[in-house]
Amino acid sequence: MDSVRRALREGAISKDVYERLECADCEEQLVTKNDPDEVGTVRACPECGTEWRQLP
Ligand SMILES: [Zn+2]
Repeated sequence: MDSVRRALREGAISKDVYERLECADCEEQLVTKNDPDEVGTVRACPECGTEWRQLP
C-alpha cells in the first residue's frame, strides 16, 4: 500500500479547494478507515477501492 504522501507526489491523489484528499481518477473524496493491522490511518476511495496509508 502506498502512502498518501507518495500518492500526492505521483498524482494518484489530489486535494480539493478545501484541502480534502480525493482520488485523482474518480474525483471522489477519500474515506477514512481504521485498520488495526496497519500503522496510522488508511484512506480509501469509495469508488475504485484503492487504499493509501496515512502516517501520523
Ligand atoms: Zn478512485
